[in-house]
Amino acid sequence: LELVAGQFVGALGNARAFEAERRRSESLAELDRAKTAFFSDVSHELRTPLTLLLGPISDVLADTAEPLPAGTRDQLTLAMRNGQRLQRLVNDLMDFASIEAGRANAVRVETDVAAFTAELAGVLRAAAERAGLRLAVDCPPLSRPAHVDPRMWEKIVLNLLSNAVKYTFVGTISVALRGQDDAVVLTVSDTGIGIPADELPLVFDRFHRVPGSLGRHREGTGIGLALVRELVGLHGGSVSVASEPGAGSTFTVSVPYGSPDAEGDAEHPAAP
Ligand code: ADP
Repeated sequence: LELVAGQFVGALGNARAFEAERRRSESLAELDRAKTAFFSDVSHELRTPLTLLLGPISDVLADTAEPLPAGTRDQLTLAMRNGQRLQRLVNDLMDFASIEAGRANAVRVETDVAAFTAELAGVLRAAAERAGLRLAVDCPPLSRPAHVDPRMWEKIVLNLLSNAVKYTFVGTISVALRGQDDAVVLTVSDTGIGIPADELPLVFDRFHRVPGSLGRHREGTGIGLALVRELVGLHGGSVSVASEPGAGSTFTVSVPYGSPDAEGDAEHPAAP
C-alpha cells in the first residue's frame, strides 16, 4: 500500500510540475505576444509624426522659388537625413513585429531580379563614390524566371550593400547575381574591415554588433542583418558570410526560383 501511495504521490507531483511548466510556458508566450504587440503599436505611433515632420522639411528644401541661406539648408538637410534614418529604423522594427507575429508572408511575383538588383545597386552608387569606393555590378539576365517579394528583395539588397559601404574604407564593393540549378545566388563582397571568425555566427543575431572593432564607431543598430536573415528565410532561402579581418567580407544569399504567388500576381501584375 505504501508503495502504491508513494507512486500516487510521485505521479501527483509530476502532474503538478507538468501543470506548472505548462502555465509558465503559456505565460511566457503571452508575454511574448504582448511584447510584439507593444513593438508594433509604438512603431505605428512613431511613424505618423515622423512623416508629418519630414514632409514639410522636404517641401522647404525642394522649394527653389525661395532659396534658403546656406547654413539653414545644411541644418535642414541634416535634420532630414536623421529623420529618414529614424524612419528606416521604425520600419525595420515594424517588419520584425509582423514577422514575429507570423503575419509576414513573402508575396512572390515574377521579377527581373537581375535588372532589379542592378537598379538597387545604383541607388547606393552615389554613397559609395562619396566614400571613395568603387562599385562593381555584375548582374547578367537569368535564364529562368525568378519569383521574389520585391519589397523584401529590396531590403535584402540595400541592407547588405549599405553595410558593405559602411564597413569599407578603401577598395571595391562588388554585387553579383547568378542563376544556379535550383537557386538565385546574390553575393555582396567588400574589401572592408572584415569580421573576426568568432563573431561570424553572431552577426545575424538581432541587435548584435561586433564589439571593439573600427566598425563600432559607425552608425548602426544591429538590426539590418537579422532582418536580412528573416526575409531570406521567408523566401525559403539562406544567407551566409565569409570574412577575413582586414581583408573584407562576402555575404551570400541563396533563394529558390520559386513560383508565383496567386495573390501576389493578382496584386502586382507588373513586377519591377
Ligand atoms: P548595424 O546596424 O550595426 O550595421 P547589422 O545587423 O547590419 O547592424 O550588422 C551587424 C554587425 O555586423 C555590424 O555592427 C558589424 O559589426 C558587422 N558587419 C555587418 N556587415 C559588415 C561588413 N560588410 N563588414 C564588416 N562588418 C560587418
